[in-house]
Amino acid sequence: MPLTILFSARDDDWHEYRDLLPDALARAGLEARVTRQAEDPATVDYIVYAPSGGMSDFAPFTGAKAVLSLWAGVEKIVGNPTLTQPLMRMVDPVGLTEGMVEWVTGHVLRHHLGMDAHILAAPGSWDQTCPPLARDRRVCVLGLGVLGAACAKALASLNFRVSGWSRGQRTVPGVTCHSGPDGLAAALDGAEMVVLLLPQTPQTDGLMNTARLAALPRGAVILNPGRGPLIDDAALLAALDSGQIGHATLDVFRTEPLPADHPFWSHPHVTVTPHVASTTRPTTAAPCLADSIARLETGAPVDGLVDRARGY
Ligand code: NDP
Repeated sequence: MPLTILFSARDDDWHEYRDLLPDALARAGLEARVTRQAEDPATVDYIVYAPSGGMSDFAPFTGAKAVLSLWAGVEKIVGNPTLTQPLMRMVDPVGLTEGMVEWVTGHVLRHHLGMDAHILAAPGSWDQTCPPLARDRRVCVLGLGVLGAACAKALASLNFRVSGWSRGQRTVPGVTCHSGPDGLAAALDGAEMVVLLLPQTPQTDGLMNTARLAALPRGAVILNPGRGPLIDDAALLAALDSGQIGHATLDVFRTEPLPADHPFWSHPHVTVTPHVASTTRPTTAAPCLADSIARLETGAPVDGLVDRARGY
């Protein structure tokens, strides 16, 4: 009996996955049928899901063995009371992780090297001020999960002095790791750049508030490719206005798309990128989905199982 896999996401996603996913499942040795419409929800074995598909009631899928999110962030689904099936978030070591490492290292290097000064310099200006070496620059990465650990490792490999913070204690080569509520101040201590790669949960909401922004060295840079609510927007704007924070490069926002009248758009010390730090790329994500389903079918360990109590 072939597996029935319900694909519940936007039309655009379906167009990208409708051939790739069946091919990947076949390559993983699975006999499966991928469909957008389940005649009988009880016969669905797995649900590939993105919130943009509009599904909100998982109760009829009584036989579903797991819901596999196309997104790494699961804050929109994790609290859904009808979702009783295991939930997997997207872990794609190629497309998603490499994309995030490139965005983070690129934007850290922009600020570290002071690239804007040269890109925007008036013709004839000849300021030979040299930036410090990376080994003399402290960068903090909040969140040392799949993406945060990869970014922290990449920054450490460029010789930045990297600290990191997670809930449980982690070990990342070249990174001074801190954990738990008591470890946050130590992780942030002296950080001239702070990269936010935490999930959105009740515990992380508003984490970068007035007090934490004030504790950073004057002129520190905030980079947020995690989720908008990690930052108290009003506190960040005040810190930018006072010069306490030198620049914020923001990819994610409390409301997306970022409303046209939001002060972030016009602030001279804010760079907005439109939630493009990384993205789920179908060519690499489809084999990851197939691999997860194959593992779930055989009871092998899987990456990305969400702990509903933790919220990520
Ligand atoms: P993971 O679940 O692998 O990692 C989350 C990390 O955050 C873990 O290290 C975890 O600690 C830590 N954490 C969670 N809650 C707390 C807390 N209360 N205190 C301290 N540390 C905490 O997620 P990923 O690395 O895969 O993704 C991170 C986030 O990046 C996603 O949730 C998503 O919001 C965002 N994202 C953004 C994208 C974009 O394009 N802008 C693309 C993809 C993801 P521990 O290790 O102990 O569990």
